[in-house]
Amino acid sequence: MPAQSFGVATDRRRQIVDITTNVQQAVADRNIDEGLVVVSVPHCTCTVYVNEDESGLADDTLEIVDTLTTGGRWRHNRIDNNAEAHLAASIMGNAVCLPLSGGQIQLGTWQRIMLLELDGPRQRQVAVTMVDG
Ligand code: ZN
Repeated sequence: MPAQSFGVATDRRRQIVDITTNVQQAVADRNIDEGLVVVSVPHCTCTVYVNEDESGLADDTLEIVDTLTTGGRWRHNRIDNNAEAHLAASIMGNAVCLPLSGGQIQLGTWQRIMLLELDGPRQRQVAVTMVDG
């Protein structure tokens, strides 16, 4: 079950990047017809999720992250002043699992796989792990 991976360079503190095409390419490279694909990030301050790639929703997503995490007296800020990013990543999770059928990731019409940078700019890695089945 070896993973493939690709990099994403973010250029803002908080940023949403549509990574669907990159994941689809990784899946195409493995030639698995039926199974599962797990998309994950080995980072504590970014996350992956599935939703629509629409600019208003992107702004709403960034706003709810702010609403949920800003203003606390977070103890982790004593270390590197990015507790909000860690907490948002914990809330949203660091992986999504999706079905593969006919060699294609099964996404709804408007669904895209998104990376949410919470403490950029940084170079991020995305792992794509496929399970044949
Ligand atoms: Zn930290």
